[in-house]
Amino acid sequence: MTLFTRREFIKETGVASIALAAPLYLPNLSSNKKMEKNNTHFDVIIIGGSYSGLAAGMALGRALRKVLIIDNGKPCNQQTPHSHNFITQDGKTPQAIAALAKLQVQQYPTVSFFEGLAIQGIKTNEGFKIQTKSGKAFQAKQLIFATGIKDMFPNIEGFAQCWGISILHCPYCHGYEVRNKPTGILSNGTFGFEFSGLISNWTQDLTLFTNGSSTLTIDQTAKLKSKNIKIVENRIEKFTHEKGYLKHIHFKNGGTASVRAIYAKVPFIQHCGIPEALGCALNEDGYIQVNPQQQTSVAGVYACGDNTTRMRTVANAVSMGTTAGMMLNKALVLEKF
Ligand SMILES: Cc1cc2nc3c(=O)[nH]c(=O)nc-3n(C[C@H](O)[C@H](O)[C@H](O)COP(=O)(O)OP(=O)(O)OC[C@H]3O[C@@H](n4cnc5c(N)ncnc54)[C@H](O)[C@@H]3O)c2cc1C
Repeated sequence: MTLFTRREFIKETGVASIALAAPLYLPNLSSNKKMEKNNTHFDVIIIGGSYSGLAAGMALGRALRKVLIIDNGKPCNQQTPHSHNFITQDGKTPQAIAALAKLQVQQYPTVSFFEGLAIQGIKTNEGFKIQTKSGKAFQAKQLIFATGIKDMFPNIEGFAQCWGISILHCPYCHGYEVRNKPTGILSNGTFGFEFSGLISNWTQDLTLFTNGSSTLTIDQTAKLKSKNIKIVENRIEKFTHEKGYLKHIHFKNGGTASVRAIYAKVPFIQHCGIPEALGCALNEDGYIQVNPQQQTSVAGVYACGDNTTRMRTVANAVSMGTTAGMMLNKALVLEKF
């Protein structure tokens, strides 16, 4: 373990906001180099080294397991300026939270890291073999997929640039910051109706943009009107913005509207296709099916975080990662005891 001063810590990590107390005990950061020389066999390979994968890695590192975390650095929230609703880290950048988490996991000498994309998983006699895009192959008895999901944006100019900044997925994560502001919901039908009801908790200045003819029922329309929630059916041409902060919604009929933020629920695909290729069952919503121990339908394969649940928060991802790590370790213990 290395003793760093606060200045050295900030230099090492780039994370000024978390470097509040000095001195700090920090890990020897040379574990990557050590691993890359000749270390290819592990107890567990974790694919995905964001919040959920790092939480699993910490539980397994503390259980003395030899672990490899493979990650290609594309978490779903990377564009959002501040992350909220995760106790002790409220308002930090997503990168600062992940950097501190990684730093803490790196303290455990049996945990190694590999930066890159896992592209294939094969069942072997001893367990599993994982192939990376760069041509490396690693083996492990068990796998954890903490690979998250990939949001699929509508084909509307400006949407992707505003995602996580002023086009929001979750009021619990970002609603407080735009409370009582003019707010839109991009949705339709029963989901749009229910989403409007939820968001009315944060603001009364609410417009439902159905982006085409409304599919609300007569009763739903009447209820929204009784709550002063406006319904706009114009088709959306584009969103203009400054650095992701919405300026105007431009409609195909030439009109415009202005709101501070828009909530949208977008479809998703699994970020990583390896679990499915190995035979892991997905549920009807497209999430990897897991039991309360985070075990998938394939023996020896666990999954945790966003790829398994619609309860999409950093706190849940961490909780599930911790569970996966602990339950997987217990299974390994029971194999021998
Ligand atoms: C725009 C936005 C803003 C958000 N804001 C908040 C917030 O304020 N507060 C909050 O609590 N939650 C927030 N969330 C939700 C939160 O970000 C997620 O719940 C959390 O990131 C899930 O963690 P995870 O580890 O499961 O997946 P992710 O964080 O998505 O990480 C998955 C990791 O797996 C890696 N990976 C995937 N496939 C492979 C592969 N084949 N090989 C190698 N690596 C791979 C990816 O590169 C990535 O690093 C937000 C989500 C979004 C989309």
